[in-house]
Amino acid sequence: MGIAQNNNNYFGVKKLEQNSGIQLLEKAMKSDRVPHGVVLESDFPQLIKKYTELLCQWAVCTGNVKPCGHCVQCGKVSTGNHPDVYTAKLYGKSQVVNVDEIRNICADAFVKPNESNTKVYIIPNADKMQPQAQNAFLKILEEPPQNILFILCCTSAQQLLGTILSRATVYSLNQNNADENINKSCETAGEIAVSLCKTKGYELLKATGKLTDRAFAKETIDQLIIIVNEAIVTKLTETHCSAAAEVLRNNIATVDLIKIIDILNLAKARLNSNINMNLFMSWLCAELRRQK
Ligand SMILES: [Zn+2]
Repeated sequence: MGIAQNNNNYFGVKKLEQNSGIQLLEKAMKSDRVPHGVVLESDFPQLIKKYTELLCQWAVCTGNVKPCGHCVQCGKVSTGNHPDVYTAKLYGKSQVVNVDEIRNICADAFVKPNESNTKVYIIPNADKMQPQAQNAFLKILEEPPQNILFILCCTSAQQLLGTILSRATVYSLNQNNADENINKSCETAGEIAVSLCKTKGYELLKATGKLTDRAFAKETIDQLIIIVNEAIVTKLTETHCSAAAEVLRNNIATVDLIKIIDILNLAKARLNSNINMNLFMSWLCAELRRQK
């Protein structure tokens, strides 16, 4: 995976800006002030995935603090089943959203949401879109229907038309210390996922034994939930997924994967309740071992 090589990376300046991308986005969600056009820019697909999901949950959540992650609406987002969240279809070798798909989205955006108050459209690989598709999208970005959220995901916002950038807010979720931790969390989450499929319990004990730090454990559990959800969703569609999710979907039945999600949600609650970390690790290992 590429590391952000911005021209001005040598100076601390750009890093500071990038650092604040995540903070600004979290602040926007917290204060209920997310703009209707959001560009998420990062070299790290996991970061894009994480914050896209959080934004979708924020948009449809019925909890008090959005996104709560626990309500029915948040749950539907994390399993990829929310009727008001739409991910644009990708076409061709370059996996890009074409102008026809953008036109479909523009028409659909004016139809009222099904379950929540807001409709969300995710545009993956937005920076690869042809100018024609970007121009078609520009119209709806300029005059959006009410209660709409567009999330444009990309590795480089600079590849988007200036007219789009002037009507959207760019959040750079790029390389910094926080992201390095996320990478470590992703790695550990992958290890736990794979060890769930091993017959001997030692691997699982070893992997869960890395969760000695509370913040790290929280991030890892979040990443693990993403992996398990990915396994559940792609079990049905048999589409491409991460290596860890593939191991899970090939070895564990959907019903058991759902039980694992329940344990992980419980684990999140326990971490928030200041459980002793040694107790937490042995509890988690025992619970997961019972399920596998
Ligand atoms: Zn919620």
